[in-house]
Amino acid sequence: MKRVDKSLIIKCPRCGEENFKTQKKCSDCGLIFDRLNYVSNRAGKIAVIKREKENILRVTKWPSDAKKGKALLLCGFLGLVGAHNFYLGRYLKGFFSLIVTLVACVCILLENVIDYASFYENFFFLPTGIMFLMWWVDFILIASNKYKIPVALDYLYPEKIKKDKKSKKNNIKEKNIKNNIENNEKLQENNIINIQEFKNEEKKE
Ligand SMILES: [Zn+2]
Repeated sequence: MKRVDKSLIIKCPRCGEENFKTQKKCSDCGLIFDRLNYVSNRAGKIAVIKREKENILRVTKWPSDAKKGKALLLCGFLGLVGAHNFYLGRYLKGFFSLIVTLVACVCILLENVIDYASFYENFFFLPTGIMFLMWWVDFILIASNKYKIPVALDYLYPEKIKKDKKSKKNNIKEKNIKNNIENNEKLQENNIINIQEFKNEEKKE
């Protein structure tokens, strides 16, 4: 039985449908995968603020204008106030962390004035727990490239797109040859094509 190799499959960042990497469009929602080369986190953040849900894609591949190292540092040191969420445009998550942390700080400062212990036990335990959990989970997600980053098509980079198209035309032959070799190697490595079996079968015939 042929095994389907996960590295040959791309999960649609819009609907989650699994497609082969050779497909140009998502078979479910019709997203053109090539468009993902022209998205930016900057445009994604604007779309989040403007609530243009239909324009937002949540991707795990780092867009060129969002840096993983910066996100990790922000999460590690300022994650309790949601800095990494603000940096990457997940504002609701960011505000939740920020508010929970601020309320906790105020409560601790006013410890003598209000009964923080009973407030914490009766009400504040849950949001604080969620916030800490979110912080740790986010750090792991960012580190393992699984954090979902909002991006959107960026129309402000038409020159970049033109340049890419030009260089694509020039390199297309080279790239095709290289891709074919790489794909064949991948298929062999993953036993989707087994050269030895193939040869044996030829002999039998
Ligand atoms: Zn899709």
